[in-house]
Amino acid sequence: MSPQQWALLFASAAVVALVTAGLAWQRRERTPAATALAATMAGAAGWSAVDAVLHGLASDAVRMLYPPLLLAAVGVIVAGIHTLSRAVADPSWRPTRRRFTLLAVEPVLLVVAASLPATRELVIVGHGATGSDPFESITLGPLFEAHTVYSYVLIAEAYWHLGRRWRNATGIFRRQIGVLLGAGVISTAGNATALALQTAGQVVDVTPLFFVVTGLINCWALLRLGLLRLVPVARDQVVDTVPDAVLVVDPAGILIDLNPAAGRLLARLRTHLRGQELVGRPLADIAGQHAVAVLDRTERLDGHRVAEVRRGLWLDVRDAAVSDSRGRALGRIVVVRDVSEQQARQAAVEQLNSRLEEQVREIERLRAELAEEAVRDPLTGLHNRRQLDRALAADRRVGAVDGELSVVVVDIDHFKAVNDRFGHAAGDDVLRAVAGVLRRTARDGDTVARMGGEEFVLVLPGVPLERAVERAEQIRRSCALLRHEVDGEMVSVSVSAGVATGPAGGVASDRLLEAADRALYTAKASGRDRVVAAPGRRVALPSPTPVRSQELVHGR
Ligand code: GH3
Ligand code: MG
Ligand code: MG
Repeated sequence: MSPQQWALLFASAAVVALVTAGLAWQRRERTPAATALAATMAGAAGWSAVDAVLHGLASDAVRMLYPPLLLAAVGVIVAGIHTLSRAVADPSWRPTRRRFTLLAVEPVLLVVAASLPATRELVIVGHGATGSDPFESITLGPLFEAHTVYSYVLIAEAYWHLGRRWRNATGIFRRQIGVLLGAGVISTAGNATALALQTAGQVVDVTPLFFVVTGLINCWALLRLGLLRLVPVARDQVVDTVPDAVLVVDPAGILIDLNPAAGRLLARLRTHLRGQELVGRPLADIAGQHAVAVLDRTERLDGHRVAEVRRGLWLDVRDAAVSDSRGRALGRIVVVRDVSEQQARQAAVEQLNSRLEEQVREIERLRAELAEEAVRDPLTGLHNRRQLDRALAADRRVGAVDGELSVVVVDIDHFKAVNDRFGHAAGDDVLRAVAGVLRRTARDGDTVARMGGEEFVLVLPGVPLERAVERAEQIRRSCALLRHEVDGEMVSVSVSAGVATGPAGGVASDRLLEAADRALYTAKASGRDRVVAAPGRRVALPSPTPVRSQELVHGR
């Protein structure tokens, strides 16, 4: 091949390396590995370019510039590989200025040495086309050789880091590192071969040809394998950043690792432990017997426990056994989350709920009270007219089943006279006392109501006329025995009653009430202080004691 053909080949190698460098550079925001790879491939492009220019032009000026330019390119490549290996081996690693300076010292010194006439020969003894050979031949000086050894040491170290990372990585990341390592090794092996060939008398440095292979593989990895796009995050970093406290204990219960969140939690829980070395001590000691006992007592739900280990401090604790690939127990990993806030919120909601329930009960009570008041007469506490109508309607239905429904209307005799003589308040007392008699004589299922004024009604479902009259008579007698003392005077009253009974499936309730009312009227008309059954069904009763109504009223 002619020098021009070599030049063309090297120029193509430079283009491939440059394209790879460009692709890597686009990902520089994601990881320092991208910048490092871009630098490495840019260095390879530079190397290829100076080789292309050397063989293509072969002028004295080019020969003068070749050594420092080549050495600068090599320096960039070595520094790039070194940085790349570090960045890939540890995703959290970041290059420091000091490291850059250290990496730059040797290449800069060598570039200076290669540029200065006094030291040039130490780097490259001489080059130029010799005799009939059209190729530029290069003889390396001792400094160049030392530089080669130094570079190889750095590169070997880089491959060692990458290799170690490759061994520990999994999945796509393992493939990415494998490809990166393989592509790099191809160029390194190519360079070693080129050096050996040059030492053996070969004049052309074939290293750039291997850069083409490396460049193409890296391009493929960048475009197809997500190299530098999918960047792993170190597990340690994840565990350190996670807000949950993570503690690792060995099978004997000794703490062997904890993340910063766990440190902070323990410092809160056990203030006296602050600043002390916790690793190596039993977890039970560190967490405290109280917390351990509380957690032990707490039932495990869905694999975790939630307990109040200190007043106001609620912890959600879950733990899992850790074992090695052969299933041997390595200990337990304990993940603790402070859920005090959630617990406090939940408690507040529960408290609010119970308060609401209490209020609902109170409202319900008041509503029932109101409903009850609505059907009660405030003076006597008996049911009022409204409830009487309801009871009558309901009891008519019951009466239809049981056969009979009786209604008794009771009216106080000459009550107006009581009011007139003793005052309204005394009248009220009398009303309450009569109501008391009615209430006491009532049985289960009966309804006792105040119709208004001094008139009362009893609804007696399932009670036949004879029994109803007996009951009315009993009421009459009991009322007659009542005595009220007003201003030293004894007041007594008599009552009259009308009784009506409806047959099974019989008359409407208002007609029954009317019939009882008419019977009451009859009782009034026939002298008061007596019980009268509805017309046609008058029941024989022992005749009432003939007492003059005025005497009754005045209690004489
Ligand atoms: P009769 O024997 O015919 O039933 O005569 P009476 O005086 O009992 O009947 P009347 O209907 O003439 O009078 C009823 C009185 O009852 C008139 C009214 O002032 C009185 N009254 C009505 N409601 C109340 C009340 O709530 N308290 C008091 N103290 N008196 C009442
Ligand atoms: Mg009256
Ligand atoms: Mg009346």
